[in-house]
Amino acid sequence: MTGRRPTHKRRSAVSSPAAPRRRNYQHIVLGLGGLGSGAAYWLACRAGADVLGIEQFELGHVRGESQDHSRIIRLSYHTPSYVQLAKRAYDSWARLGADAGEQVVLKTGGLDVAPRDAAIDLSTYTGSLTACGVPFEALDAAEIMRRWPQWHLTDEHHGIYQSESGIAMAARANAAHQRMARAHGATLMDRTPVRSIRPVDGEVEVEAGGKRYRCESLVVAAGPWSPVVLKRLGTRIPLEVTQEQVTYFRTAHSAAFAPERFPIWIWMDDPSFYGFPIFGEQAVKAARDAGGPPVTANTRSFDPDPAQERAVKRFLARYLPDAAGPILYTKTCLYTLTPDRDFVIDRLPGHSNILVAIGAGHAFKFASVIGRILSELAIDGSTPSDISPFAITRPILKMKNPPKNYMQ
Ligand SMILES: Cc1cc2nc3c(=O)[nH]c(=O)nc-3n(C[C@H](O)[C@H](O)[C@H](O)COP(=O)(O)OP(=O)(O)OC[C@H]3O[C@@H](n4cnc5c(N)ncnc54)[C@H](O)[C@@H]3O)c2cc1C
Repeated sequence: MTGRRPTHKRRSAVSSPAAPRRRNYQHIVLGLGGLGSGAAYWLACRAGADVLGIEQFELGHVRGESQDHSRIIRLSYHTPSYVQLAKRAYDSWARLGADAGEQVVLKTGGLDVAPRDAAIDLSTYTGSLTACGVPFEALDAAEIMRRWPQWHLTDEHHGIYQSESGIAMAARANAAHQRMARAHGATLMDRTPVRSIRPVDGEVEVEAGGKRYRCESLVVAAGPWSPVVLKRLGTRIPLEVTQEQVTYFRTAHSAAFAPERFPIWIWMDDPSFYGFPIFGEQAVKAARDAGGPPVTANTRSFDPDPAQERAVKRFLARYLPDAAGPILYTKTCLYTLTPDRDFVIDRLPGHSNILVAIGAGHAFKFASVIGRILSELAIDGSTPSDISPFAITRPILKMKNPPKNYMQ
């Protein structure tokens, strides 16, 4: 599907939408992908018409990080802070779902599977889940295969099963955030790149579509364009944007891979793979995590890498052979990675009214709660969530050539 640059999207990026007459808002959100749409929604829940969201392309475009049928959501994480954040993520999606009258999360259960000597230490997961009072089951290979005979493992493998894991319905959830932000009074302006950002008299002025807009607080949620936007603000942190891809495989065994029968899964080794039951397409989806080349958001291609497709198919053929059917299509996508793979959710140093959120290639499940946290920081000045691990001033983000660890 994405073998080529989506030219129709590009054309629509240059036609100018009607700009709002109003020029002053309490809050402006730059970027309406997953995180920015979440921020616009949660800000609008409290500040209504005092919220302006600005997106450079059309809403729902496929050039960023957030548009596909599905993203994994899970409580299972390697630190207690992420587990706590994930608990609040489920609550935030549930509130959005109730407000929008629409389901945005589908629970399938989730398996973290690995060789016993894997690169990713499963005990950090079980320890964090235990510390946060989240139930899980530790399973050996025989038990995994008894419950889910789709898996072909050996005695060297083991895993954990957590029943709350599942699918965040990405494209639908983004549209719900946007629709409900508007329903609460926000103005969302698409096809309008923000060209400049300037602190003025304790406020922030942004220029977009040839007009200037002022706000008391600005949320920057620019995804893979973050290096460009941060540079304009005089900030540089060591981010790596990589081109990733997911592949949909047809299967002749569709009943075995239905969401009620087959949990989402992550292979916790290096290389790491992950996958989904049939959802969104008549096909299972599988991918390698963080295996793609460094690119920039403006110069990346939309061409799938056949070597990565083959690697994923080899993995499936070995461990999930009934899923390894013909390829339906491969879709490219970008990660914006910090060296430690932790998010950035913080105020910009020197600009306390500019908030920055960067998703580090695993933030979709948190898109609503990160938006909620940004709204709390903007409106209340603080958040009940522990965001200390996501400080923009943490030592590794001050290093010029930091060591990278994308496997967690
Ligand atoms: C293949 C793949 C699989 C993934 N799987 C998972 C998963 O299973 N679970 C999970 O939790 N996460 C997953 N992620 C990660 C998750 O999708 C991202 O972390 C998240 O979507 C990031 O959202 P974002 O809003 O930061 O970025 P984006 O969605 O890219 O949004 C940024 C937006 O800002 C806009 N913008 C940028 N600059 C400007 C400007 N100057 N003016 C106006 N607008 C601007 C862009 O056009 C864009 O719309 C995956 C990512 C990929 C690529």
